[in-house]
Amino acid sequence: MIEIKKHTIIVGYGLAGFCYAYQLHRKGLSFCIIDQPLHSATRQAAGVCNPTQLKRYSLAWEAPRFLAYAARFYAFFEKEYSCSVFQKTPIHRYFHQVSEQNLWGEASYSHLLAAFLEADIIPQGDPNIRLQNGYGIVKQAARLNTVETLETFSSLLDSSAFRKERFDYEALQLQNSGIQYKNIEAQQIVFCEGFGIHSNPFFKQLPVIGAKGESLLIRAPELATSATIKSGIFIVPMEADIFWIGATFDHHDKTNQPTEQGKLWLLNKLNRLLDTPFELLAHQAAVRPTVIDRRPILGKHATHPSMAVFNGLGTRGAMMAPLLSEWLFQHLNEGKALPVEVALDRF
Ligand SMILES: Cc1cc2nc3c(=O)[nH]c(=O)nc-3n(C[C@H](O)[C@H](O)[C@H](O)COP(=O)(O)OP(=O)(O)OC[C@H]3O[C@@H](n4cnc5c(N)ncnc54)[C@H](O)[C@@H]3O)c2cc1C
Repeated sequence: MIEIKKHTIIVGYGLAGFCYAYQLHRKGLSFCIIDQPLHSATRQAAGVCNPTQLKRYSLAWEAPRFLAYAARFYAFFEKEYSCSVFQKTPIHRYFHQVSEQNLWGEASYSHLLAAFLEADIIPQGDPNIRLQNGYGIVKQAARLNTVETLETFSSLLDSSAFRKERFDYEALQLQNSGIQYKNIEAQQIVFCEGFGIHSNPFFKQLPVIGAKGESLLIRAPELATSATIKSGIFIVPMEADIFWIGATFDHHDKTNQPTEQGKLWLLNKLNRLLDTPFELLAHQAAVRPTVIDRRPILGKHATHPSMAVFNGLGTRGAMMAPLLSEWLFQHLNEGKALPVEVALDRF
């Protein structure tokens, strides 16, 4: 029996599900989120928004556009919910060799990167980090507190708007115009399951290959950096004396189990960098929803247009998800074409 009518059902509440739900909320449309938070990449992410690709000294795809939209989107959210989740946080790129300084210098004067890379190199920083050849600064970088964002938004949703349960794909009924799921009727359903997409019978063929990442949380009372440090690993200040350390990249193991090997790899890198005692608080793992062509996947199902997918956020969900959610909303509700790079029908 239908008891609840909604505009959209959203399956999965990570960054994709949150951003899509918040788009609907801003437009005054109703939704019900169904999420079982077992394998969330979002809850383990550092939330760094880095517009550059420092390995290649280039900009990330469409970074200025994504970053500008994300900053407005999160600022709007912060104002409405009286919280502080998105902060400008520069990235300090650690130089192992003098030659890296020269490459940095060239890149910082290039047409594309000048707005993002500080030309001057910092010779010294926090004394608790063993510095060899200084840092370069990535300007305009930011950090989203992903867990607080999800918790803040969901804490004000009632039981008709948020259900903590595993979505049962067999209970989904497709109707002429819309869908029914258990006692909920909706015009659309948007699947935002991250790497969990492989259990979805309607979209599991999409090439979300996944890249597992392991990370640590440490307490280091004497470490005082307020910037994100990028060496072989990231050191990200989270709160007071707590730092996020990560992450590994594994393209073979697609489980969410932290491994001894991953922990040792991270600790080894960390010990080489830090010259101060620290306490290990947590070790965690999740699979990033990466796609074979490194672009997100948005769009409607080929034969069931009331079903859509929002996936493939890869390694940059915090920066990209807000604008992608706007593109998907406009596509599903206003008939606007999606940029070809992200459209589902490219596969
Ligand atoms: C170690 C690590 C570090 C990272 N660091 C960063 C970073 O610094 N900056 C950045 O931008 N990105 C980072 N990322 C990537 C980022 O986490 C992802 O881009 C993003 O969080 C993916 O969001 P999502 O909503 O698509 O998936 P998820 O966050 O995985 O959310 C999917 C949700 O759907 C739920 N779900 C799945 N199937 C079902 C079902 N059948 N029924 C109910 N619920 C279901 C899952 O349990 C989960 O809660 C990192 C990822 C990892 C693993």
